[in-house]
Amino acid sequence: MRLAFLGCSAPYPGSEDLPAVVGEFGRVIALLDAGEGVQARLFKAGYSPVRITHILITHLHGDHVLGLVPLIQSMSLIGRERPLHVIGPPGLAQYFRSSFDALYFDPPFYIEVSEVGPGDAVDLGRGLSAVTGEAQHTVPTLYYVIRRGDRALVGYVTDTRPLYEAAGSLKGVRVLIHDSAFSADDEALARERYHSTSVEAAEIARLADAGMLVLYHISARYHERERLLREARRFFRNTYLCSKFMKVLV
Ligand SMILES: [Zn+2]
Ligand SMILES: [Zn+2]
Repeated sequence: MRLAFLGCSAPYPGSEDLPAVVGEFGRVIALLDAGEGVQARLFKAGYSPVRITHILITHLHGDHVLGLVPLIQSMSLIGRERPLHVIGPPGLAQYFRSSFDALYFDPPFYIEVSEVGPGDAVDLGRGLSAVTGEAQHTVPTLYYVIRRGDRALVGYVTDTRPLYEAAGSLKGVRVLIHDSAFSADDEALARERYHSTSVEAAEIARLADAGMLVLYHISARYHERERLLREARRFFRNTYLCSKFMKVLV
């Protein structure tokens, strides 16, 4: 399994570091969220959009979906024929329909849209599944656990308050990618904006007994991100900061 981080920071529009991660599991290649500018970064990371088999969307905030329609238009321009499976919360299909209608765009390949709710398990093929859970954010938001059989490979938990009661569904996860929008010193802000702090992310990693933790969706306000890393490592040693184009091989 290989993870390629395409963006780590949020939420300013126009940033070239908006949230997106590619998870490569053999022939299943899943894009997790699609912030603005994702396609340029996909190419830079060496992935042709034609190879993406699945796109998993956590929620319909701009910093997670504004790169989606341009990416799909490019897929069609470069002659994609294979179907694409897009998974996300209710409202996703409507977002596609209205965008495609307004743009007179009719994709030449089949797009299967699965609107899912918490507790659903979506088959990704080749023994993989994406199990969803409910995050605590300002709009309906899902988190995903990508599993192969009884092994949790990747937990993708962003734009949420810490979900202590959900740590069980992440038990033993190899890589936990977790919201760490704020420093522990700014916990009040994290509460107010429905995000997590570095320390809260580390607590979830510890409860879940994760193999490693990647601090993700870091607020652009922090010029010295190492501070968040130091805070988290006091609670969970095997913690890393997300950085653009970072790759993780497991
Ligand atoms: Zn966000
Ligand atoms: Zn959000």
